[in-house]
Amino acid sequence: MKVTVIGAGTMGRGIAQVFAQAGNSVMLTDIYPKALEDAASNIRSSLERLSRKGEIKENIDIIMQRITSTQELSAGSDSDMFVEAVIEKVETKESLLGQISQIARRDAIIGTNTSSISINQLSSFVTYPERFIGIHFFNPVPVMKLVEIVKGERTPESLVRKTFEIVKALGKDPVISQDFPGFISNRVLMPMIREAILVLEEGIATKNDIDKTMKLGMNHPMGPLELADFIGLDVTLDIMEVLYHEYGDPRFKPPVTLRNLVNARKLGRKTNEGFYKY
Ligand code: NAD
Repeated sequence: MKVTVIGAGTMGRGIAQVFAQAGNSVMLTDIYPKALEDAASNIRSSLERLSRKGEIKENIDIIMQRITSTQELSAGSDSDMFVEAVIEKVETKESLLGQISQIARRDAIIGTNTSSISINQLSSFVTYPERFIGIHFFNPVPVMKLVEIVKGERTPESLVRKTFEIVKALGKDPVISQDFPGFISNRVLMPMIREAILVLEEGIATKNDIDKTMKLGMNHPMGPLELADFIGLDVTLDIMEVLYHEYGDPRFKPPVTLRNLVNARKLGRKTNEGFYKY
């Protein structure tokens, strides 16, 4: 299969990697040459790490040869599938999906990796929207098994089944969600993180004890506050804002403590401080 991945950032490079690992020919595009260069070296290091751990057997150069980097989206016009992983802005995705619609074959699948924008809204920017679907990978893509397949009002069952098989062939384990804000993952996760922050705010327990409770009592590999730091507190706040705005339900309302940390640029691991210091 030939796949074009658009956006060579955190997610796009991982998505390109897993498609190439599974034997597909990949066109990786970005508007910035620097993003493409960084992506290529990042993919190589990731493959080397996986190879050292014995998780891939194939020669790394052969996998790398399946990936072509280009700034020209039109180079992917004969692709069987497109996966867009550009920044989370409706205007950017709107213009890009318009461009993809013009060059893609009528039978090509057009997927989006959006975390929070409605699949139905994005499908309105695609001509022949019955070829459009949500394919939500998790970070880091080469490691995380889960992919949420998100079905819009116009997505036919046949495309859901086909995408399910494509995702399985990547060695991932897909789930299927209707197009509701947060899909399954963030709809369940965000209220838990929010509640953990409120337990901290109300002085009920220390951050360490809150995280320890979920790790030792519920068998979570990370506590909710640690996980929020890992996701990024700015990203966590953005997702909560979307859920709160869309559902209008106070169970998604971002806590003041979270907003204060984000305003103070304490964004978690990426700035070396969030709920914890790193
Ligand atoms: P990122 O900022 O790391 O990368 C985005 C890339 O898109 C950049 O390299 C940028 O140059 C490129 N880009 C912007 N406009 C473009 C255009 N018109 N054409 C081609 N390339 C363009 O972002 P990311 O974290 O990789 O997120 C990408 C998408 O994946 C977003 O929709 C995000 O919501 C979603 N997502 C992110 C995560 C995560 O943990 N980071 C997890 C799941 C889904």
